[in-house]
Amino acid sequence: AQERYASIRDKAAESLDGTVIHLHMNAGLMADLPSLSTSGAEGVGLFRTELQFLIRNQMPKRTELAQLYARVMDAAEDKRVVFRTLDIGSDKVLPYMAPQDEPNPALGWRAVRVALDKPGVMRMQLQALLRAANGRALTIMFPFIAQYEEYTAARAEVDKAIEREKILGHPLPSEIEVGAMLETPSLGFAPKKFYEEVDFLSIGGNDLKQFFFAADRENERVRRRYDTLNVSFLTFLEGIVNRCVDTGTPLSFCGEDAGRPIEAVCLAAMGLRSLSMRPASIGPVKSLIRRVNLSELRDVIHAARERGDQSVRPAVMEYLRNS
Ligand code: PEP
Ligand code: MG
Repeated sequence: AQERYASIRDKAAESLDGTVIHLHMNAGLMADLPSLSTSGAEGVGLFRTELQFLIRNQMPKRTELAQLYARVMDAAEDKRVVFRTLDIGSDKVLPYMAPQDEPNPALGWRAVRVALDKPGVMRMQLQALLRAANGRALTIMFPFIAQYEEYTAARAEVDKAIEREKILGHPLPSEIEVGAMLETPSLGFAPKKFYEEVDFLSIGGNDLKQFFFAADRENERVRRRYDTLNVSFLTFLEGIVNRCVDTGTPLSFCGEDAGRPIEAVCLAAMGLRSLSMRPASIGPVKSLIRRVNLSELRDVIHAARERGDQSVRPAVMEYLRNS
């Protein structure tokens, strides 16, 4: 399938009306990295670090992690890799960390909540990332930030880790960006200072959608009930885009929907300029972006909203068929 899109691999994902959308890939294993060059991705928009923890039966050691992260950065060469810190709990259970007995794990003790309450593992991971960077630029992203104070607490851990490395005389990254995933509706309404302080935001659409519609992403009976192209959801996303434009906050989207061509062009029409997806989706998404006039598509979406459509999908499909 990659071959089908080879002719556009080195071309920009530029819409007919001249808007460039930056396409990145999601990864989690060393084996994913060769796709960086074959897919034409600009970088790794989401590196899921929990896979390294999930595939073992004991906690990985700091030196092992540092080596792995260094190899990932080596393989990416000068392309940016967004390392997401350990995102466990909910559907991702570590065999060597007894899961908490929680009635609703998706709403429970997970991701950055675990990291902030029991910071030992996060500190080890941050140290491994700083050592792996070894003078290069480093990008860290915290999952499941639901409010401003969680971001500042997580960021303080990064600052502490840097201080520790300095005292130990280790080389520091040339620059560090610390971003957050927007996966809970609450963060869409966080105070302006959050948007000003965070280095970048990435919308985790898989989680965000399940909380927006209160529909379990793991439950087949309800997860397909609510369309990503539902007017309420797109309006919410448009609001986040506007807040980010207002504060100059770099924003991207890294949930599965970024890799679905119809959803992807609608996200772009709502103002998203950066999407991260599985490598095999880059060709199909780029191909459709290059055939669409985004400002016309935005008008189609807004008209459907004005009319009171529940989902803009029928109107969008009709527009795409006729254009
Ligand atoms: C998301 O929630 O959209 C996301 C990218 O993270 P994960 O699927 O790993 O929860
Ligand atoms: Mg998530």
